[in-house]
Amino acid sequence: MSNRSLFLTHVAQTSPAPMALAIKSASGIYITDEQDKKYLDLISGIAVSNLGHGNKNVIAAIQKQANKHMHVMVYGEFIQSPQVSLATKLCSYLPKNLQSVYFTNSGAEAVEGALKLAKRVTGRSRVVSFTNAYHGSTHGALSIGGSEFFKNAFRPLLPECYHFNYNDGQIFDFLDGQVAAVIFEYVQAEAGNLIPDPNFLFQLAARCKEEGILLIADEIQTGMGRTGSLFALEQHDFTPDILLVGKAFGGGMPLAAFISSYDYMQALTSQPVLGHITTFGGHPVCCAAAEAALDDLIALELLASVTEKGELFKFRLKHRAIKKLNAKGLMVALHFESFEINKKIIDKCLNLGMITDWFLYAPQALRIAPPLSITTNEINQACDLLLQAIDESI
Ligand code: PMP
Repeated sequence: MSNRSLFLTHVAQTSPAPMALAIKSASGIYITDEQDKKYLDLISGIAVSNLGHGNKNVIAAIQKQANKHMHVMVYGEFIQSPQVSLATKLCSYLPKNLQSVYFTNSGAEAVEGALKLAKRVTGRSRVVSFTNAYHGSTHGALSIGGSEFFKNAFRPLLPECYHFNYNDGQIFDFLDGQVAAVIFEYVQAEAGNLIPDPNFLFQLAARCKEEGILLIADEIQTGMGRTGSLFALEQHDFTPDILLVGKAFGGGMPLAAFISSYDYMQALTSQPVLGHITTFGGHPVCCAAAEAALDDLIALELLASVTEKGELFKFRLKHRAIKKLNAKGLMVALHFESFEINKKIIDKCLNLGMITDWFLYAPQALRIAPPLSITTNEINQACDLLLQAIDESI
């Protein structure tokens, strides 16, 4: 059996048509397949490889920690210096109410932990989220997700989850003493980079404060520099009560976290004790990788260039087939007329040696989320290829 057949047979599939690129190696902004064809990676494994592939410092940190020790105990019992060091460093970049980090394995698990924390802190059970939101694929995260299409087959889901539209004042009347949490994204990536009005978010934060509702910012995709600051929260005049990070946080290793105040986090220590449990969350090798990635992100001064790089994509990507371009930093979405056209362009890009993708709730839109380390020349090269792919597809 070929590797492809074995993949299709034994690696459980979730799509009838996976890209099925057979990967040999990855370095910088390039991925190489088993036929030695090189692809320019415009999506970073969906906003994960912010430093590019094969970052030397991240690899060295992984090797060093693996040589010292890997898993030694479930979450929270032993003092493991990679966790302590990463949490301390991360907190030095965060506001004073976000100084306690609970490490998880995935973004969805961070969402689950945050919802549980909000319930414990407030003693309430209602959760409010937004149409078109994506927070993960586990039952709780799916319940607050904003797509009926992806939820319907899995009901019953969590009760008392309520959805509102971004920028719609109706939500303010609903937010009362029964609501535990409101969860939002600064950029709704999976909707094709939908960005709420900053004023709406500001009012939302104020209303949550008035009613003692915890505001949860899901920065799993927008965090770690993707929007031009380490966290998108730095570009707003309010601070969430819980911050979620993931994806690029682990430097290419599986790591996420929900972050809140020391006082709020105390709620997970009693009634019941062990309010959230994970075996592998905060794996020492992942934490070592994450710290090296965070150090490099700062040392390479990548953040300062993200907005400019995003602007270059915007400037270059002008074509009559592009109906709309939604962008924030290096999250760029090109909206075409239909999924069929978009799919043709994505396939053509692949032929030409470039990896792009569509969005979960916006199949007509093409995703650009390259490593933040992409250079101006590489952006120009990517834009040339994309414009060629569009010309040859329409
Ligand atoms: N929240 C957001 C905003 C995301 O983009 C994702 C992943 N696409 C998640 C949560 C879930 O993360 P994970 O896939 O690691 O569970």
